[in-house]
Amino acid sequence: MRLILLGAPGAGKGTVAKQLTAIDGSVQISTGDILRAAVKAGTELGRRAEAAMKAGELVSDDLIMGIMEARLREPDCQSGFLLDGFPRTLPQAEALKELLARLGVQLDAAVNLNVPREVILDRLTTRRTCVDCGAIYNIKSKPPKVEGICDQCGGKVVQRDDETEEAISKRLDVYQEKTAPLVDFYRAEGLLLDIQATSSEVAVQAIRAHLGI
Ligand code: AMP
Repeated sequence: MRLILLGAPGAGKGTVAKQLTAIDGSVQISTGDILRAAVKAGTELGRRAEAAMKAGELVSDDLIMGIMEARLREPDCQSGFLLDGFPRTLPQAEALKELLARLGVQLDAAVNLNVPREVILDRLTTRRTCVDCGAIYNIKSKPPKVEGICDQCGGKVVQRDDETEEAISKRLDVYQEKTAPLVDFYRAEGLLLDIQATSSEVAVQAIRAHLGI
């Protein structure tokens, strides 16, 4: 399947994408994960993205399109892809449309995961992430077995720099201003699937029903 996952930070895009990859081998492409890995590795890309990320602002469209063009040309994308956290601005959506036309690839849908703001705020302030493997925990609903240590790889489990209350509030504002307009963009393209994503299971069911898989 070839899907875009839209939704505010904390709406569950990553969790839904992971569940969908298990269905048909489509790859999850998270621009946030790619950027965090670059920051951790101290690459040129990481250095250029770090300040904006820490402040909860968006990284420049040019930088993101460079990453995505290279990524979408990789052979593993032939079996399908789930775009998680991209596109995030209208210029990115326009550039993606043009890129996919050049690659001769058609999207199945742009899925919008709707989740109330208070649920998102609660989820993000209690979310914790493994710095080594990226595994996601939640101090209320899914804490690691040993506090601060990843169950899967033994790495350190921490609160992301951009998941302080201040940065989260900034990210949600940026989402409303820059990314929410993409819902209308994809509706006009005839690609929108709007879901009340009360849980990732509900979202996955709705996507499967829509695609008939
Ligand atoms: P995420 O994990 O998707 O919430 O992304 C974390 C941060 O990475 C965002 O707050 C942005 O600073 C940056 N980022 C990720 N994807 C994009 C994108 N498509 N465009 C611009 N910035 C992005």
